[in-house]
Amino acid sequence: MVRVRFAPSPTGPLHIGGARSALFNYLFARKNNGVFIVRIEDTDLERSSRESEKNILESLKWLGITWDEGIEVGGENGPYRQTERLDLYQKYAQKLIEEGFAYYCFCTEEELEEERKNLLAKGEMPRYLGKCRNLTPEQKEKYLAEGRKPTVRFKVPAGRTIVINDLVRGVVSFETDGIGDFIIVKSDGIPTYNFAVVIDDVTMGITHVLRGEEHLSNTPRQILIYEALGFKIPEFAHISLILGKDRTKMSKRHGATSVENYREKGYLPEALVNFLALLGWSPGTEEEIFTMEQLIERFSLDRVAKNPAIFDLDKLNWINGYY
Ligand code: GLU
Repeated sequence: MVRVRFAPSPTGPLHIGGARSALFNYLFARKNNGVFIVRIEDTDLERSSRESEKNILESLKWLGITWDEGIEVGGENGPYRQTERLDLYQKYAQKLIEEGFAYYCFCTEEELEEERKNLLAKGEMPRYLGKCRNLTPEQKEKYLAEGRKPTVRFKVPAGRTIVINDLVRGVVSFETDGIGDFIIVKSDGIPTYNFAVVIDDVTMGITHVLRGEEHLSNTPRQILIYEALGFKIPEFAHISLILGKDRTKMSKRHGATSVENYREKGYLPEALVNFLALLGWSPGTEEEIFTMEQLIERFSLDRVAKNPAIFDLDKLNWINGYY
């Protein structure tokens, strides 16, 4: 059974890239009679807001991208908001600490900055070198007595190659030596993205992780966590970046970046969905106009391109005119 998710961080309105990820997940789920989940990743407490969450969910609804499990708009809160699952992350963080896969780190910002500078000066990649890996109970007590609040770091094994067989990008490999022990729980007890995402994807039974290419470099960290917890690793498919016609990162110069802008300008949701589907996916024919039903019927991951998708406002206007 296919189970996929769209996991936006509610730090702004739903933008074109996010809407495309949501659509691809939705099409893949519907095509395979699977389940499509929406999960709000609101662990960045400063940048997240309920207003952005509402905007994202309303934009999805306007596009006709409906979810099977997740949060209701305006009604009862559903189960999938990360800040409502903190106990779960704590539980797994404790397990990793007990089993020796993670440890408390008491380093201060200043100490970390010092380490960073020293590594840069030596021409090395800045990373955490594991200073707190083997603290004695006395050292820990001393730090606690000083009022230091620890983070939890994941112990990255040295000298390993992590191989990802990405359904869009093919075989991609990463060396663990460049990674450095990374934080999984911040000093305020809030999990970091890489940790929460793994716990959620596992506990929600996600079979395929379809998301933007910007997360490809996070994947080896996530795989290490799956392995340490003995979880089954899902399939990954990383969708290419969206660039403007001039091949620079898509920005307001190329056209409005959020879904609500198009809604306000009177674009039809069917036209935007049709346009988004063609941003990186190709039907393999000359056809250009598709209803949602036709997209569901035709969608497959092997027709999702590795190359960057080009955002062409003229094309959107043409499609919108057709509708
Ligand atoms: N919350 C992440 C983002 O908005 C999504 C991460 C993921 O899909 O794994 O970029």
